[in-house]
Amino acid sequence: MKMLNQVKITFAGRSVNEGFARAALAAFLVQLDPTVPQLADMKTAVSEAVTNCIVHAYPDKIGPITMTAAIYEGGIVRITITDRGVGIPENVEKAMEPMFTTGDAEERAGLGFAVMQSFMDKVKVSSTLGRGTRVTLTKRLDARA
Ligand code: ATP
Ligand code: MG
Repeated sequence: MKMLNQVKITFAGRSVNEGFARAALAAFLVQLDPTVPQLADMKTAVSEAVTNCIVHAYPDKIGPITMTAAIYEGGIVRITITDRGVGIPENVEKAMEPMFTTGDAEERAGLGFAVMQSFMDKVKVSSTLGRGTRVTLTKRLDARA
């Protein structure tokens, strides 16, 4: 699979930067001429992944979040969101189950990964306790009809 273009951005894990990540992703993907729904899907998935870094990876501090976005031949978009936070406490499959949360039950629904999975073609998570987590989101943008 041939990579055609790539961008990498590191930003502070502050809530205000969730909007920045969405906007930066959209600006990069303009070259693919995505449809509005395709773009909305990818921005929503990225929001969930970034929110998880802010809320779970860095519970009592502000840490760095790195987003990469790459475009491959055939309209394939691959986005990674990486943090250097606490890592996922349970095994990753368990954490990805709908309704699973270690967060405050009043605030968290445990649906972030489910949302990512429904809006993207593939979601891969790798995590090491105490070292951090990487979420890889892949979507193929079908050509416009
Ligand atoms: P919601 O997204 O609905 O607000 P949530 O964040 O708890 O709730 P998910 O996004 O599905 O639900 O995440 C499930 C669980 O996985 C989290 O409760 C947390 O324990 C763990 N988790 C997710 N992302 C990270 C991360 N970057 N670092 C550490 N733990 C994480
Ligand atoms: Mg979440």
